[in-house]
Amino acid sequence: MIIELKPSVSRDKANELGKQVKGIVVQDKDISCLVTSSKVKEIPSAIAEFVARTHVMDTDIQLASRSYRSATRTVELGNGKTIGGNTGNTVMIAGPCSVEDVEQIAQTATLLNSLNIGVMRGGCYKPRTSPYSFQGLGIQGLKMLADTRTAHGFSIITEVRDATHVADVIEYTDIIQIGAKAMYDHGILRACGATRKPVMIKRGFGTTLQEFVQAAEFVLSGGNADVILCERGIRTFETKTRFTLDLCGVAFLKQYTNLPVILDPSHAMGYRYGIADLTRACTAMGVDGLIIEVHPVPEVAKSDAAQQLNHSEFRELYASLEAVANSVGRKII
Ligand code: PEP
Ligand code: MN
Repeated sequence: MIIELKPSVSRDKANELGKQVKGIVVQDKDISCLVTSSKVKEIPSAIAEFVARTHVMDTDIQLASRSYRSATRTVELGNGKTIGGNTGNTVMIAGPCSVEDVEQIAQTATLLNSLNIGVMRGGCYKPRTSPYSFQGLGIQGLKMLADTRTAHGFSIITEVRDATHVADVIEYTDIIQIGAKAMYDHGILRACGATRKPVMIKRGFGTTLQEFVQAAEFVLSGGNADVILCERGIRTFETKTRFTLDLCGVAFLKQYTNLPVILDPSHAMGYRYGIADLTRACTAMGVDGLIIEVHPVPEVAKSDAAQQLNHSEFRELYASLEAVANSVGRKII
């Protein structure tokens, strides 16, 4: 249950009441809310006099729920950009899987600038399946991203592999990415809840929608209202493609949550040949954003070489998206 307290209730008092009802105190703008388990269906009588309003919930998808907030949240991405809300925009995020060197990032910047794309991706802490693969450039890579951000005004999204990376990612970039393998890491979720930077959570490949949104609840209930969800494919019996993109799940997230939703066709497909068609299908879902891996020479990429588009493939794909977006009343930016 989400219990909105009267505006006259001080923060100290809200903390005291929170302890009384075993709830988490969350500030929603100027209003203090107590969020208890969804099993609680009635206002505890001891606090009734302080309560302005309650939201009885069916499940522990609470702060992220449309029944709590009917409008999709607007999340600031830094450098004046936003995602979500009712803009009707679908924000394109593009860049390499991993940051590899200065030249690669410069080429990516040229590509994005030529298409007016304002959000760049690039991983510096890579959660690889093998310890013998390239693990990312770490802080050195973050500095390359920070330089391109300063030079071109991009918003930058990059992933954390553990909670100790959060502070550096915040210092050098704009949006924290929590990867599919990291989304169960409560150290990361709690560290992200304590920041005021936007956080994009990628769905684990064996994660139910309930678990996925509950991961977002950890960040939201930690006090960070700026959470974005990303569907990037789940594991099914199928092995011909890398994962299976769950578009039904995306319909669920759009219907029942108030968080902006991004689709990642690159990791779902795993192979270059399917990315363009899949991206158009994703665009037709009317989502808030798309994240696509592009690399100047994908064949020599240090991670996810098979799925990254080269720059001319990306340009061709990008040119085809506007019509699809328009057909569902949206605009690609
Ligand atoms: C990535 O975005 O490069 C990545 C590692 O994604 P995921 O966490 O979805 O596997
Ligand atoms: Mn990748």
